[in-house]
Amino acid sequence: MEIVTETEKLIDEKLRALLKVDKEAWTLDEWVLGLYSIYRKHDIKSMPSDIWLQVVNDASQLAEEVRRENYKPVSNEEGVLRQAVKMFCWMCCFVGKYTHEKAQDLGVNDSIGISLVTSHSSDDFAGGDETYSKWIVLKFPGVCPVCGNSPCLCPSYAEMVENRKVDPRYEKFKGEWSKNIENAKREFNKSENTKDFRTKSLNQLIKFFSDIYGGVHLQMNLDRICFHLLEEVGEVSDELLYLNLLKQYQEDELDKKFKPVFYESKGRIQGISPKLDEQVNKVSAEKSGEALGEALFEFIRTSNIENLKGELADVFSWLCAVLHKLDCLIKPGVVKDRPGSFSFSRQIENHYKNFHGDFACPVCEKAKCDKLCLLKNLTAKILNKKNKKLSS
Ligand SMILES: [Zn+2]
Ligand SMILES: [Zn+2]
Repeated sequence: MEIVTETEKLIDEKLRALLKVDKEAWTLDEWVLGLYSIYRKHDIKSMPSDIWLQVVNDASQLAEEVRRENYKPVSNEEGVLRQAVKMFCWMCCFVGKYTHEKAQDLGVNDSIGISLVTSHSSDDFAGGDETYSKWIVLKFPGVCPVCGNSPCLCPSYAEMVENRKVDPRYEKFKGEWSKNIENAKREFNKSENTKDFRTKSLNQLIKFFSDIYGGVHLQMNLDRICFHLLEEVGEVSDELLYLNLLKQYQEDELDKKFKPVFYESKGRIQGISPKLDEQVNKVSAEKSGEALGEALFEFIRTSNIENLKGELADVFSWLCAVLHKLDCLIKPGVVKDRPGSFSFSRQIENHYKNFHGDFACPVCEKAKCDKLCLLKNLTAKILNKKNKKLSS
C-alpha cells in the first residue's frame, strides 16, 4: 500500500477547499497548488532540470504554433493557447514542488531542495511566505523594473534600454528610474498592498502585466514576444545548470576543487558584499583560500537561488505578454468565452478535466495522474512520429 505523506495530506486538504471555489477566482499560487497536486506523483521523483525540460518542450511547441499562426481555442488539439496552458501547468508543477515539499521528501540529491522557501531576497520588501506571486511582486512592484513606470516607458528609449550596461546616455535616467522603483517598492511595503497583490486572480495578474506593458506589446508582433519568452525560459535553464554544477562540486571535495576557481575570481568580487570583502581581506592576510572558498560558495548559491526566482517571474511576465497579444489577435467568437477577452483560467480549467468534468489529468483522467501516464503519452508520441515517417 502506498504511504500518504504529511505533505500529501496537507495538499489534499487545501485542494478540497479550493475546489469549492470557482476556478475563475483562483490565484496564481492556488493554480500552483492545484496543478501540482495532479502531477505530484511523478514530479516528486524528478530532478529540477527534468521538470523544467517539460517547460522548455512546451515553450518550443508554443513557438512552433506561433510560427504556424495557429491561434485556435484550447479545445483544439493544437494551437498557441493550448500550448500556453500546458506550459503554464509545468511551470506550476516546478514551483509547486519546491514550495510545498519538505526536505525529507525531496531527497539529498536534489540541487534545489528546500532553498526556494528558506532563502529570502536581499531586498524582501513584500515579506511573508515564499511563493510564485511573491517572486513576481519582488521583480515587478507594480511598475516596470527598468524604467520604474506604469505604463512602461522603455520603448521610447528602446536602444538605450537594450544596451543600458554600456550606453553612457543611461546614466542620465538611471537615478530617476531607480527612485521610481524604490517608491513603488515602498508602496508594496504596506502589508495590505502585498496581500491585495497575492489575492489577485490569475486573470487579474495577467491584466496587471498588460496594464504595465500593454503599450509595449502593441508595437511588437507575437513572434517577437515569443522570442522574449523563449529567452527567459533559457535563463531559468541557465540557473538550474549552475545549481546542478554547484551541487556536484559540493559533493565532490568542495575545498580542493572550489578553492582555486574562487581564488581566481577574487579581484571581481570585491565590493559586491561586505561579508565577502571581509573574507577577501582575511585571505590576503592569511594566504589561505579555504574560508574564502566557503564564503563564496554560500554567496554564489544564494545569488543563484535569488536569480532563479527572478527568472521564473520573467517567464511568467512574458507568458502573460503572449496571452495579452493573443487576446488582441483572436477574433471575437473563435474562443467560446468571448466577446470581451478570453479567460486564461477558464482555458486551463477546460483542459485539466476528466470525462465527468472533474479537475484531473486530461490523459489518464485521474485526479492524481498515474505514474505510467507520462510514459504512455510519450510512447504514443514517439510511435506517431515513426508512423508519420513511414507513411511519408
Ligand atoms: Zn520600462
Ligand atoms: Zn495522467
